[in-house]
Amino acid sequence: MSLTVIDGCAVVTMDPGRTEHAVGHVVVDGARITAVGAGPAPRLDDATYVDGRGCLVTPGLVNTHHHLYQWLTRGFAVDHTLFEWLTTLYPVWAGLDEDTVRTGATGALAQLARTGCTTTMDHHYVFPADGGDLLGAEIEAARTVGLRFLPTRGSMDLGRSRGGLPPDHVVEEIDAILEGTAAAIDRHHDPSPDSMLRVGVAPCSPFSVTGDLLEQSAKLARDKGVRLHTHLAETDDEEAYCRERFGRSPVEYVDSLGWLGPDVWLAHGVHLDDAAVSALAASGTGVAHCPSSNARLGAGICRARDLRNAGVPVGLGVDGAASNEAASLVEELRHSVLFARAVGGPQALTVRDGLEMATLGGARALGWDDRIGSLEPGKQADLALWRLDTAPHVNIPDPVAALVLGSPPPLELLLVQGRPVVRRDALVTVDEERLAVDVHDATDALLSRAVGR
Ligand SMILES: [Zn+2]
Repeated sequence: MSLTVIDGCAVVTMDPGRTEHAVGHVVVDGARITAVGAGPAPRLDDATYVDGRGCLVTPGLVNTHHHLYQWLTRGFAVDHTLFEWLTTLYPVWAGLDEDTVRTGATGALAQLARTGCTTTMDHHYVFPADGGDLLGAEIEAARTVGLRFLPTRGSMDLGRSRGGLPPDHVVEEIDAILEGTAAAIDRHHDPSPDSMLRVGVAPCSPFSVTGDLLEQSAKLARDKGVRLHTHLAETDDEEAYCRERFGRSPVEYVDSLGWLGPDVWLAHGVHLDDAAVSALAASGTGVAHCPSSNARLGAGICRARDLRNAGVPVGLGVDGAASNEAASLVEELRHSVLFARAVGGPQALTVRDGLEMATLGGARALGWDDRIGSLEPGKQADLALWRLDTAPHVNIPDPVAALVLGSPPPLELLLVQGRPVVRRDALVTVDEERLAVDVHDATDALLSRAVGR
């Protein structure tokens, strides 16, 4: 196995004692971390040494909510609400196929890697009848970029003619959804300790899927031993929709369908009353907090402090790039802390709260914290080495404050399972200039199909 030693850097471990070292080291042997400590690293034969002076090493960031395909549809409906934005974009997304999904996913994954992410989920819920193997295409993209991946097989079965929001031509029949989801799990889900690929089940939202699909999806996920995800409590419109249609809040509604539990994490959780926060905490349900997307769509601000105080696993997510054009995970740290303080005062979230949500909190939300989310011997070697000695950050005394409150720092090194994905602020797995051309062409192809529809 190959030995890599990162030496001379500040270290934030996120271990149970939240140990930090002003100057320390991390030793990686193959896929796993073998040592983390203070002071200079031991001299090891045949090891590659990385000079970490001027840098901070953290666990790799974990992205808990995304729609990778949306990389191709950034910049639409820029001043609109969620429901207006969705109805603009559904007809464009109806033209997705394997090639456009592969290219869009590669673009989004590349941006995640460039911004410190080592593990991401994806929530893909648009499966046009003639689209091909879209989940397979994005899995291929994750392998190419080199990120650890938790794609979820999403779905919509509640078209406009039945009172839902999406047009009928982008929804599927429930039997086809359940069959496709079971097949995706059987084919791709890898539960092994060193897994780079786990699959989840993710009907889209209360206003685009039936209660029947929610219930049967939960049953399928539990039969297969995989995780459950959906959008919930994102906007006032959704709250009104659930009250009017089901006579319940969004959390009460999904609770009635078996959708709270330690195997569930929910995207957004913006509009939660105290009873909903308690219900999530009591059931161990996690939340993917997506501050930039929520701000972009004017949805509100997640009660991250209250959720954390109640014991809810809270991770951060960029959400799809159509509602967060930056799609930069490191910037979500800054936004999560600033937005919480804007409404809750300067102690609402600390810079370390932000970093914890972005790493260990995200790993907990994804049910993967036994393998990732902290720098500890035995864990997977997923780490980010941030350069903090250049002009934008030099002399900020606390490296965590520099990372969270400063501008996004250059990424000296990003390792996923011990393999370099970013080095000296450039991707080593993907040609970024070629990727820009491919994204341009794929976007053109997708838009021309929407025009012809
Ligand atoms: Zn979303």
